[in-house]
Amino acid sequence: MSPQPLISLRDINKIYGQPPSEFHALKDISVSAHAGEMLLLMGPSGSGKTTLLSIMGCILSPTSGQIAVAGEDMTAMNRHQMARVRLKHIGFIFQDYNLFPALTVLDNLLVTLRLQNITGRKAKDSALASLDAVGLSGKTGLYPDTLSGGQKQRLAIARSLVSEPDIILADEPTAALDSENGQNVMELMTALCRTQGKAVVIVTHDQRIKRFASRVALIEDGRIKEGVQ
Ligand code: ADP
Ligand code: MG
Repeated sequence: MSPQPLISLRDINKIYGQPPSEFHALKDISVSAHAGEMLLLMGPSGSGKTTLLSIMGCILSPTSGQIAVAGEDMTAMNRHQMARVRLKHIGFIFQDYNLFPALTVLDNLLVTLRLQNITGRKAKDSALASLDAVGLSGKTGLYPDTLSGGQKQRLAIARSLVSEPDIILADEPTAALDSENGQNVMELMTALCRTQGKAVVIVTHDQRIKRFASRVALIEDGRIKEGVQ
């Protein structure tokens, strides 16, 4: 294991809203993930998992606490700087895939690359390599609607990989899938984690995913109850 985690959170608190109706969603959370590690965040609905993943992904700011991503201290960064770190280092996968329905499989990846000013031959080569990695090379011209649930999630994984992030964050990635497709998606993510040395953080309710994990953190009422530091 590398000495420095790819992503590290210390003493994170998140308070939504203003007094008197404020809500303390995360309480003194410290957690980290290293290259090649798969961390599961489990816990009941409303316990703060999505909030924590959003803070890890630099799409939500904590009320207090420190975050470092790939050695960069995010704490004092403005939105623009956070977006740069997010684009460079983080790939997201969501339960409902978040694909662009009007774009082909290939264009779903190219549009992501364009956000990073990667276009032309280089973009196409990267997109095709990502589709190959998830077993969708033959599907480039199809539209997402024509794919099965498992294929859609594999496309979402390809899209999260296309810009070569070192951290992958996934919110309930198997929730919409049957058990066979859920298992395939988890095997794919485990392989990426091991062979490409990515840090993978997965929010899940799915007990069957546990066996794929390097570590499991149980979250209840905004606190880590069990598992990791
Ligand atoms: P989980 O993903 O574990 O279901 P969330 O992180 O989505 O939990 O939510 C944790 C708690 O914070 C819940 O009680 C939820 O209602 C509350 N919450 C989430 N987002 C907001 C928001 N934008 N404003 C106010 N409360 C929120
Ligand atoms: Mg959630």
